[in-house]
Amino acid sequence: SESSPVYKRVILKLSGEALREVGSQDNISPEIVERIASEIRAAKDAGDVEIGVVVGGGNFWRGASASARGMDRPTADYVGMMATVMNALALQGALEAEGVECVVQSAIEMRNVAEPFVRRKASRHLAAGTVVIFAAGTGNPFFSTDTTAALRASEMGADVVMKATMVDGVYDSDPKKNPDAVRYDTIDYQTCIREELKVMDSTAFSLCMDNHIPIVVFDLGKNGNITKALGGENIGTVVE
Ligand code: UDP
Repeated sequence: SESSPVYKRVILKLSGEALREVGSQDNISPEIVERIASEIRAAKDAGDVEIGVVVGGGNFWRGASASARGMDRPTADYVGMMATVMNALALQGALEAEGVECVVQSAIEMRNVAEPFVRRKASRHLAAGTVVIFAAGTGNPFFSTDTTAALRASEMGADVVMKATMVDGVYDSDPKKNPDAVRYDTIDYQTCIREELKVMDSTAFSLCMDNHIPIVVFDLGKNGNITKALGGENIGTVVE
């Protein structure tokens, strides 16, 4: 629409679970990764938006769940961070197959497969039109990849965090349990934190709030949505 904002630099947050085909034993679906890559390419073709991607690891492992079952939390979290690197490499391969220039920068050094995360280098890659995939989260246990997205968006001077999820926005109650749940067009950070709307964790919300970075929450499942969201259409909920 005419009122669509035009983003110059965005951080796209993909959950690990988004890379898995529902019901499949495979943690990563090559077909889904391919679709995501082609949508990112289409977004780049449509405008000159700079795209950083933060990818989760929940399709392999979640530190908090392993810790609840008795594993030492920091250890479990490092396993989770490793998981995000696998997803990052899969996505990089698919993007390159689409002809999109792409680097992976890892917050935990893994020089044979990824560049180490260096803020200024990442920013230069983005400015040159190269997609940067931020792997290994923040590099610290007790954080999430949502918080990583908020952090990278803040330090890269991104205009927005695009949170691609399995629901098409933020609701006043769980739409899967309550058929009368109402979706917000826009909502403020404080309400999300106070009402514990589980779109992101509170650390991620507060970081975005403090640095005035809006979050667009949208449904990854629908074809074309990544391209639309990156192009500035509000196809879900804007948290601001
Ligand atoms: N993780 C971490 N620090 C970070 C980012 C991630 O310890 O900065 C670990 C944590 O154990 C988390 C796992 O990596 O559960 C996978 O990330 P996340 O759960 O955010 O993935 P998603 O839900 O987006 O797939």
